[in-house]
Amino acid sequence: MADVVLRNVRKTYPGGFEAIKGVDFAVGDGQFCVLVGPSGCGKSTLLRMVAGLETISSGEIEIGGRVVNQVEPADRDIAMVFQNYALYPHMSVYNNMAYGLRNRGMAKPEIDARVQEAARILELGTMLDRKPRQLSGGQRQRVAMGRAIVRQPKVFLFDEPLSNLDAKLRVAMRVEIRKLQRRLATTAIYVTHDQLEAMTLADILVVMNGGQVEQIGSPLDVYARP
Ligand code: ADP
Ligand code: ADP
Repeated sequence: MADVVLRNVRKTYPGGFEAIKGVDFAVGDGQFCVLVGPSGCGKSTLLRMVAGLETISSGEIEIGGRVVNQVEPADRDIAMVFQNYALYPHMSVYNNMAYGLRNRGMAKPEIDARVQEAARILELGTMLDRKPRQLSGGQRQRVAMGRAIVRQPKVFLFDEPLSNLDAKLRVAMRVEIRKLQRRLATTAIYVTHDQLEAMTLADILVVMNGGQVEQIGSPLDVYARP
């Protein structure tokens, strides 16, 4: 139900720089799509437009059959995981995950059930009372993912979520993210400049360069090409 479709999407930043020059692609329901390409090619801009954090200059973005160009970010049914985690430092792990749900006026038993379930999946069950500073980098990143999971979104968006972790942890978390996405069967769009990460994670790979899509296909299709 949550296909994401981009039709001739463009972005010109104030000042006139054309960061996205007419991008078309579709991500099927439950697919894991990775946007890959060199720094500055427009990956983050594109993701932020899907999230509603950046206006689109022209074209159309559709999520779950609904054109979202004018839909407020909060009503898009997406959840985003950022590179810097963006956790609230003064709140417990539990409250970091519960905060957004409380703001939406969700009833406490439902919030509690969702947080407990996310904590179980992410193996954070014993950490719920800790503050972010009492966690390792990998644990913090899992809390950031927990905060996205509890919203039960139609689409997960990831903006280089592992790039602050050391190499070993990055590999481990990559595996975790993939397992998690399979298990939740949620559509995902994941931004990275790391080719290996892209290849490991993607059902569908969108290779970008200079604000355009250069190649699109399965990792095998894309990397097997001469
Ligand atoms: P990537 O995520 O692939 O590194 P970005 O989407 O962050 O690329 O940036 C794409 C291009 O748009 C870059 O040249 C960047 O400098 C430019 N850019 C990003 N944000 C802005 C902005 N707010 N104003 C003007 N130019 C921007
Ligand atoms: P703070 O002290 O940061 O304001 P609280 O500890 O008072 O936050 O928690 C706010 C709400 O979240 C309370 O209703 C509390 O019952 C619930 N809560 C907090 N931690 C947990 C936890 N580990 N398990 C279940 N509920 C929790």
